[in-house]
Amino acid sequence: MKFKHTDFHVHTKWSHDIAKNGPDFNDYAKLAEELNLNVCFLDHYELYHVKHDKTYPFYGGEEILNKYLKEVSQVKENHNNVLSGLEVDYYVDMEEEIGEFLDLHEKDFDFIAGAFHETDHWFPFTTRSKLKELLKKKKQEDIINEFLEITRKMIDSNLFKNICHVDGVFRYLNDNDIKLDRSIEMNDEFFIAIGKKCAKKGIKLEFNLSGVRYPIQRPFPSRDLALKLKQEGVRFFIGSDSHSLEHFMYHAAQIKEMTDVLK
Ligand SMILES: [Zn+2]
Ligand SMILES: [Zn+2]
Repeated sequence: MKFKHTDFHVHTKWSHDIAKNGPDFNDYAKLAEELNLNVCFLDHYELYHVKHDKTYPFYGGEEILNKYLKEVSQVKENHNNVLSGLEVDYYVDMEEEIGEFLDLHEKDFDFIAGAFHETDHWFPFTTRSKLKELLKKKKQEDIINEFLEITRKMIDSNLFKNICHVDGVFRYLNDNDIKLDRSIEMNDEFFIAIGKKCAKKGIKLEFNLSGVRYPIQRPFPSRDLALKLKQEGVRFFIGSDSHSLEHFMYHAAQIKEMTDVLK
């Protein structure tokens, strides 16, 4: 790679949560050159939506995925600071299909990371309005417990070598936003246990900077927790989770700083 530092988590208009006229591979690649950064595209690939949602950018399976790969490889021909990747969602009941997908396509990408955004299909807790809807039918405590349980299963599945935003469920559930019920006591223990397991398995965790753009005002996980995890032997990749060029610029300095701190 051309530069010393890499932003491993950037979304283009190939992601469902970005407008069709949003930033493309070239826009980021050029900007990354100016910022002395390598950039890894980590567009959302959620198999459930690939199968069931006609509006999803990757709906249509293989054919459309090949189009993505072709586009990104053209950008790589002109820029040596670009990595291809995907943020692949984990679903407890789709392990086999995800495994088949990865067997088939892991070699086509430079970097694949696992993530999950939905304890309940169509209700991502990373979208505030959807979380609000979900909270009408499910208690906070249940959502958080399910999140922790599914995170554990995702790691035990051995499907992924890299895991994104390991405590991302707190994007909107925190003291500065949708306040946690008083009965809920959260501490670092669960994530330390998860971290130890990942260290043992050689799974890298993401230090995801996106939280500083939200009221929670901290990365996922927090800097404190990340440093504790580092002591447990966890290795990190650093991502801005940019959904725009403004995000990408905004996080560039932190990407560099935290890559050095957590290496
Ligand atoms: Zn994500
Ligand atoms: Zn993302």
